[in-house]
Amino acid sequence: MSSAFAEALAAGDTAAIRSTAKADLHSHLYFAAPIADVERWLGRTVERPPPRMDGLDGMREYARRAINPYMDNWTAFEFVADAAVRHAQSDGVVLLETSIDIWAVRHHPEGLRGVVAFAASLESQFRGQVDFRPEVGFSRSFVSKDQLMSSLSEAIETGVFRSIDMYAHEHDCEPEAVRWIYEKARSHGMKLKAHVGEFGGADEVKRTVEILQLEEVQHGIGAAESAAVMHWLADNRTRLNVCPTSNVVLGAVADLKSHPIRVLYDHGVDVTINTDDLMIFGQSVSDEYLNLYRAGVFTADELEEIRIRSLR
Ligand SMILES: [Zn+2]
Repeated sequence: MSSAFAEALAAGDTAAIRSTAKADLHSHLYFAAPIADVERWLGRTVERPPPRMDGLDGMREYARRAINPYMDNWTAFEFVADAAVRHAQSDGVVLLETSIDIWAVRHHPEGLRGVVAFAASLESQFRGQVDFRPEVGFSRSFVSKDQLMSSLSEAIETGVFRSIDMYAHEHDCEPEAVRWIYEKARSHGMKLKAHVGEFGGADEVKRTVEILQLEEVQHGIGAAESAAVMHWLADNRTRLNVCPTSNVVLGAVADLKSHPIRVLYDHGVDVTINTDDLMIFGQSVSDEYLNLYRAGVFTADELEEIRIRSLR
């Protein structure tokens, strides 16, 4: 075995796995803190997520019932953000790209200005410990909401956000409808990401990457159904930020053992390993690495190679 990290995986040494530097490039800040921290802060128990949920709607249903009634306000968001970055730090995450949903402007008393100031302060608070790179995110369902889209456009102009991400149901909006916002983000030097191919197929992944000029795809596991699309992603150096537990819990894949991250890797696609929504899926980046090792998806040396690459 060629590295301390690989040895730690093979030995199941969780302390050593946690203390090794890692990246989390697919995370949503609203859901990024451990649920136990949320309970401590609220001073009450929170209904735990079921082990399996029926896709995005199942997850939304759970959040609507168990999380949103307590956490859908700015004070709670500030708590979660701080707890999330602290937890990431304790898990050895040194590079953290986590999205702040543009919806937050409706919660902050000062609107966009307050949200931007908060993102900048979080970045400086952890400087030297965690390279926290604020990302601005939006749901595909916001495309018809002019005020939110104009807030998003203004958020891009501030220069505080380093990347952009879009999520929720693929059928809620065609990539063409948001090309203008991605062009604007690119002109401001931001990294371009979007969720696609979580439940949808390879053609939609390729089409969305082309139209929005994406550098990274959140999930993108649907690409595994097409060798041609996988080769195209590999040649194009498009990275897929994969969240294995999220895919299993929401039913996108049957189990970890058969997760398509293996096929993607074997076709030369640049894959990384991430958390998605730690509050809901309960697995840190360290946990995700160990889970993949224990399920026999990757060897310890392959996971070390993915870890190193994800930090670049
Ligand atoms: Zn996600």
